[in-house]
Amino acid sequence: MLDTALKLLREFSSHSYKAYIVGGFVRDYILGIKSNDIDITTDAKPKEIKEIFEDSCLPNDDYGSVTVISKGIRFEITTFREEKEYEDHRRPSVIQYIDDLYPDLLRRDFVINTLCMDEEGKIIDYLGGQKDIEDRIIRTVGDAKEKFSDDSLRILRAIRFATILDFQLSDEIEQAIFETKGFVRELSYQRKKEEVEKIFNSPNRDKGIQLLLKFGLDQELEIEHLEDVIGRDMDSSLVVWSQLEVSPKYPFHKNEMEMIHHIQKAMELNNLDPMALYTYGLYVNSCAGKMKDVDVKKITESYANLVIKSRDEIAITSLQIMELLHRGSGKYLKEIYDDVEREILYRRLPNELDSISQYIVEHYA
Ligand code: ATP
Ligand code: MG
Repeated sequence: MLDTALKLLREFSSHSYKAYIVGGFVRDYILGIKSNDIDITTDAKPKEIKEIFEDSCLPNDDYGSVTVISKGIRFEITTFREEKEYEDHRRPSVIQYIDDLYPDLLRRDFVINTLCMDEEGKIIDYLGGQKDIEDRIIRTVGDAKEKFSDDSLRILRAIRFATILDFQLSDEIEQAIFETKGFVRELSYQRKKEEVEKIFNSPNRDKGIQLLLKFGLDQELEIEHLEDVIGRDMDSSLVVWSQLEVSPKYPFHKNEMEMIHHIQKAMELNNLDPMALYTYGLYVNSCAGKMKDVDVKKITESYANLVIKSRDEIAITSLQIMELLHRGSGKYLKEIYDDVEREILYRRLPNELDSISQYIVEHYA
C-alpha cells in the first residue's frame, strides 16, 4: 500500500508538483494500524490532478478534492488550502488554494492528523504529531473552541479518535466540547450517524459511549437510553442501536432497520426456542442471547439442531397440498404451511411427505 502511495507521490513530482501523504494514513502507519484509504495533499489544483490521473479519477467534485483509485487503493487528493468564514458551524464558505504545505496543516483538526510523509517515506512533522502519538493525546491545531465552533463535526471526530485509538482528549478539548456541543445539533443526521456509527463499531465503543454521556452529547444527538446500553463488548453497532431511541430523522437503511427490529424482537424471546431461532436466525439470536447472558454455544447448538432452517426445506410443495385437498390456490395454503412448519420445528411431525400429507388430510380435508 505504501509503495503504491509513494509511487503516486513521485508521479506528482515528475510533473513538478509537491505532494505528501497526510493525516490518517501517516498517523495509523506510526501506530501500526492498517488504513483503508490514503489522503494526499498537494499544490496541484483539482484540474491539474485530473489531468495527471485522467484514467483513474472518480467523477466527484467534493470541495476540490479528487479521488484516484490505484491498485485498488482509494486516494483522496486535496489541494493545499486555507479555509475561512465557516457557515452553519460546518463548512467554510471561502476556500483559497495556496502553494505551501504548512498553512494547509493549520486548517486541520487535530495535531495527530497533521503528520505527512514525502515520496521517500520520510515523516514530516511540523506541529508535534509524533509526540502526541507517543503521549496518546488528542489536541486541536490551535484554539479548540474556535475549531469546534467553525466545524462541530470535529467534536464527534475527537470522540471517535479517542475511542478508536484509545487516546486521551486534551483538557482544552474537554472544556471546549462543554462550551460548543450545542452546535452538534446543526449537523446533518447523515453526518451524525456516520460518526456515531464509527464509535459504536469500535471494539473500544464503551469508552466512546462514556465520553458521549460525559459531555451530554447524547442529548445533542437526540439519542436516548445510551446510559443503559448493555453488551457493550459485542461486535456489532446494531446491537447498540437496537437499545436506543433515536430521532426518526436518522437515515437508517432498510436492512439496518430490519436488523435492529429483529434484535429487539429476539430480546423478548427465548433464544434457544426453535421458532425464535428459525424466524430470526443464528446471528440475531446470538446478539440478543449475549446481552441476556445466554450461553452462545447453546444457541449455536440449538440452531444447528433445527429440523428445518427455511420454509423451502418443508418436504411438501404447495402443488402437492392443492392436489391432496383437490383445491386451487388460496390463502388457506399459508395457514397450512404455518401450522405444518410449527409442528415440524417442534418435532411433533416428521419432515417427510407421507407424514405431512396424512397430517394435512386429517386436519384440513
Ligand atoms: P480516517 O480516514 O481513519 O477516518 P483521517 O484522519 O484520515 O481518519 P479523513 O476524514 O480521511 O480522516 O480526513 C483526512 C484528513 O483531513 C484528516 O487527517 C485531517 O487532517 C483532515 N480533516 C478531515 N476532516 C476534517 C475536519 N472536519 N476539520 C479539519 N480537518 C479535517
Ligand atoms: Mg483518511
